[in-house]
Amino acid sequence: MNVEKIMVIGAGQMGSGIAQVCAQAGFTVLLNDLKPEFVERGLAGIEKNLARQVLKERITEDEKVAILANITASTNLVDAGTVDLVIEAAVENMAIKASIFKELDEIAPAHAILASNTSSLPITEIAAATTRPEKVIGMHFMNPVPVMKLVEIIRGLATADEVYKTIEDITKKLNKVPVEVNDFPGFVANRILMPMINEAIYTLYEGVATKEAIDDVMKLGMNHPMGPLTLADFIGLDTCLYIMETLHEGFGDDKYRPCPLLRKYVKAGWLGKKSGRGFYEYA
Ligand code: NAD
Repeated sequence: MNVEKIMVIGAGQMGSGIAQVCAQAGFTVLLNDLKPEFVERGLAGIEKNLARQVLKERITEDEKVAILANITASTNLVDAGTVDLVIEAAVENMAIKASIFKELDEIAPAHAILASNTSSLPITEIAAATTRPEKVIGMHFMNPVPVMKLVEIIRGLATADEVYKTIEDITKKLNKVPVEVNDFPGFVANRILMPMINEAIYTLYEGVATKEAIDDVMKLGMNHPMGPLTLADFIGLDTCLYIMETLHEGFGDDKYRPCPLLRKYVKAGWLGKKSGRGFYEYA
């Protein structure tokens, strides 16, 4: 299937990164969020990223201008009426995603594929909110999107083979590496990563070591590029909590119960880098 026009829903850290790589690969992109200022914040982030690439001489100023010209702001889902593919990157919440997909199903052309960048929620359940479950698929990018190579591609129960193939081809066009996984809570990436992060938070909660010491152990001892508490701040503590809740509920196993300290931080609005404070403080 030929895909030319893509709508990205959610102009947060993931959605803006996805819009950037799609525009950079030559697709026409609509970047959608609830309010104009949210889209503007996303666009400003993209511009900053591209300016950095110009400074590093990876792209020219003209290329930067052309990439930005491929992206149009949207605050109305009705704009999905002309797209071939939607990539949803709104918050990690089933009720919100289901309502977006139900609405998209009514608006998007019949041929359009509806993909979700969910970190952990069942694609089959998101697909059930639509009348086109064969055209619903998971496209799980990693953070930061312009840098990270992996895209987990998740087949829902009803996802059609040709839809899988189209998304695999687009992933390669975005200069990413697709890896096929099945629809299980947390898929592969977050089923393995998030319990480690949650355990690091328990280690802090129980006073085993300071946050810096916990991060140092994993950086210096395991060769991780950043410690788990720093990584949690980068992912967003709200997103970490949503994922742990999905694992806990999906497997019904208490080994996945979210650490109370994680809950407390999210309740306090300490969401990590995006809110200026999480385990660490950010200017
Ligand atoms: P974020 O909080 O930075 O951004 C979410 C954006 O979605 C916000 O701008 C919000 O205004 C917008 N939004 C909320 N409801 C909306 C709606 N109904 N319509 C349009 N926009 C809406 O979150 P994020 O880190 O970008 O995460 C987005 C999604 O990507 C989540 O499903 C998350 O699990 C997934 N994800 C996150 C990471 C990560 O490291 N943060 C990695 C992979 C996948």
